[in-house]
Amino acid sequence: MTAALPPNSTIGIVGGGQLGRMSALAAARLGYRCHVLTPEPDSPATQVAAGATIGSHDDPAVLREFAAHVDVVTFEFENVSAEGLGLLASLKPVRPSPDVLRISQDRALEKTFLNQAGIATAPWRLVETLDDLHAAVAALGLPAILKTTRLGYDGKGQRRVASAHDLAAAFAALAPKPLILEGLVDFACEVSVVAARGHDGSIASFDAVENRHRDHILDLTLAPARIPESAAAQARQIAHTIVQEIDLVGLLAVEMFIDRDGAVLVNELAPRPHNSGHWTIDACPASQFELHIRAVAGLPLPQALRHSDAVMKNLVGPAETALWPQILAAPGLIPHLYGKAEARAGRKMGHVTRLFPRGALPGDFAVAAALGPLADPPPDQ
Ligand code: AMP
Repeated sequence: MTAALPPNSTIGIVGGGQLGRMSALAAARLGYRCHVLTPEPDSPATQVAAGATIGSHDDPAVLREFAAHVDVVTFEFENVSAEGLGLLASLKPVRPSPDVLRISQDRALEKTFLNQAGIATAPWRLVETLDDLHAAVAALGLPAILKTTRLGYDGKGQRRVASAHDLAAAFAALAPKPLILEGLVDFACEVSVVAARGHDGSIASFDAVENRHRDHILDLTLAPARIPESAAAQARQIAHTIVQEIDLVGLLAVEMFIDRDGAVLVNELAPRPHNSGHWTIDACPASQFELHIRAVAGLPLPQALRHSDAVMKNLVGPAETALWPQILAAPGLIPHLYGKAEARAGRKMGHVTRLFPRGALPGDFAVAAALGPLADPPPDQ
């Protein structure tokens, strides 16, 4: 499929979470329908989509049923098996391609791809056995981080190892194997760049943003990142190199560290809309979700312009979600809620955005104050 998808066509989205919900809302504005594949009948995405196939993405019959309803397939969740991806690709155009998903599903493949493209990462070693782990520690030193190569997210599937005594327990605790050991980066800040690439090879990327985590979950995004111009330009250039080298058609987020010397190291790739791009809904003429849908549908990509500076704060777990009435009443907070029935600890329930005039993103103190009731949210019990 190279021609633009005509209006009223149906975009299939694998995954029913908030990324699918916001993609479906953007698709609706462009005159498309979305059909969601998820095991959950009342998911954030199915609530706003034209249709859904309810079932497991591991089941070939379910994948066939899903594919029969759609004109093109994309993802908000990337852990579909290689067999499942192959089956989908035999039935309908799949964007991004199964090759992109296979690389980003596996940290070892991902880091090999990045290093071969000349892109710096934390030093790392593949760890299949406890002996490998000892050899990796001898090479990289401690402290270090041991990570699963597959199925990790929000800090799950990783252990920090500080001493040789921790190695056996950390190795035993993590599954599935193989693992990788990564040198610990003493970073000054974490940033990300979201970039889209169209079927014609055109690229649009948003400014680098700064990400702050709490309990391994994204808490705040500051747009733009308060880093030197040269580091911001380098981060964006790296994202462009990646989407070109991986031959992306779609949207991809690049998570990076800026180390104490200002060097940019890539941590992770996510070939889909990303939590650190939610600010673009309110601060940009075309959001990350619109760029995602445009790239998948073969439409021209607009530039990823930012008309305002922004702070995005996630609403995570019951205590922050309980502040919803105060958030709605607070001047200047732009509220987003994902339609999840139950606010469990650590669950992303929504987010708020606060805009500032372009160039006027204030310092940390004023950013916190601008979040009103969320300036100092109570912890979950
Ligand atoms: P990941 O699952 O790889 O995105 O890691 C989750 C978080 O753990 C990152 O956002 C960092 O805050 C931290 N982290 C991961 N890898 C490293 C590393 N090599 N050095 C320092 N911090 C790390």
